[in-house]
Amino acid sequence: MSDSYSLEFLPEIEPRDHAWDAASGNPRGRCFAFAGSDMLILRTPDDTPKVPSWEDLRAWDITAIRYQYLGTLGGEPCWSAELAPDVLVPGTAMLSGLRPLYDVLPETQYAIAGRAAQIVAWDRDHQHCGRCGDPTERVAGERGRRCTRCELTAYPRVSPAVIVLIERDDRILLARGRAYVPRRFGIIAGFVEAGESLEDAVRREVREEVGIELGHIDYFGSQPWPFPHGIMIGFRAGHLRGEITLGDGELAEAGWYGAADLPEIPAKLSIARQLIDDWANRRGFVIDQP
Ligand SMILES: [Zn+2]
Repeated sequence: MSDSYSLEFLPEIEPRDHAWDAASGNPRGRCFAFAGSDMLILRTPDDTPKVPSWEDLRAWDITAIRYQYLGTLGGEPCWSAELAPDVLVPGTAMLSGLRPLYDVLPETQYAIAGRAAQIVAWDRDHQHCGRCGDPTERVAGERGRRCTRCELTAYPRVSPAVIVLIERDDRILLARGRAYVPRRFGIIAGFVEAGESLEDAVRREVREEVGIELGHIDYFGSQPWPFPHGIMIGFRAGHLRGEITLGDGELAEAGWYGAADLPEIPAKLSIARQLIDDWANRRGFVIDQP
C-alpha cells in the first residue's frame, strides 16, 4: 500500500561486498534484531527510537545467534538477526514488540521490521528438515533452506487471509468478534483455504459468518501482517441478498452502520481501517478516531 516502501527498500538475497566490513569480515549496516518477538531498538537522547547498526550491537557486546541479509535501504545494507531470548540490553537500548513501533519508526523501516521478524522466525524454525529431521542448509540465491539428506526445501511461509468491507446503500457491515478487543468492531476476515480462489474465500467467509450473499467483489489492496506470517488481501463488496444471521460462533454481534452511528473501529495500522477510511472518503466525511 505504501509507495515509499518500494522506492527506498531494495530486497536482495545475497549480500553484496558493501554489506561486509572489509577489515573484520563482520556484517555492516542496519540490524533488525529480535529476541523472541521483541525487536532491539536504540534509544536516542531525544527519545526517538532507531534501528541499531551492527556497530551498536558490537558496542553493546550483543552477538547474534543467526543473521540474514535483507537488502538495502537507501543503499545501506539491512540485516535481520536472532538474539538470545534472555539477551542483556543496556540502558541505551530497549526491546519492543512490533505493534507499538507503528507510527514510531518510519513507515519503510517498520515494513522491513515486519519482514525481518518473519525471516528470523522462519530461519530459526527450519534448521532441521520437517520430513526427515536432518540438518538443513541455506540455498544460494534463494530465501530457502534445503535438507542435506532428502533435499526437501523450506521457504518462509506466508498465510493469506481475505478481509472484506461490505456495503449496503449508505451503510457498511461491522462485526465484533468474540476474541476481539471489547467494544471494538471490525470487518469480516478469514484465512484462505487450500484450493480456494481469493474471491471464493471472501464469499465463503461472509456466508459462514453472517449468512449474506455478495454481489460484486473488487480488489482494494493488501498488507503484510507479520503476526506471525500473514498477508491480508482486502476487498470491497456489495450486498446482494440476505439478512445478517450469525453463523459459526466467531462473532458476538454484527450490524449495518452508517456515518452517524459508527462504533469504535480498528486503529489506523490495519488494512481494515484503510478500507473503512476509504469508504468514508468516498462518502465525503472523515472518521474522527485514532
Ligand atoms: Zn530431509
